[in-house]
Amino acid sequence: MSGGRTNKIQFARFRAAAEHWIEVFGLFDWDLEFLHEKLENKYASVHYDYATRKASLVLSTSFGKWPITEERIQDSALHEVLHLLLADLSGFAEAAAAERRVTEAEHIIINRIKAALNRAHG
Ligand SMILES: [Zn+2]
Repeated sequence: MSGGRTNKIQFARFRAAAEHWIEVFGLFDWDLEFLHEKLENKYASVHYDYATRKASLVLSTSFGKWPITEERIQDSALHEVLHLLLADLSGFAEAAAAERRVTEAEHIIINRIKAALNRAHG
């Protein structure tokens, strides 16, 4: 199975999944936009400015060599929303520590939250 380009329906599902998690975590203080554009070596991404509360959630138009699966789209949406959940903490932490270490710590927390959600919801 080869990877390829994500279509409009997959982008709509990414958006719907992200909006679901935004609501679950009550992240209503963000001014969100959803983008469907090419990212290098990433399925999805989030860009935000914690001072202005503007955030962009992006699904890549290309998954490169990786197969596009519904699970990967759903997982990417949750992953990026969890980055937004941690945005304030991350923004302040980066002022005190190397960005790479903050990102590593953020991914440890994201994976723990995901595992907890999986246990809770099967
Ligand atoms: Zn990440």
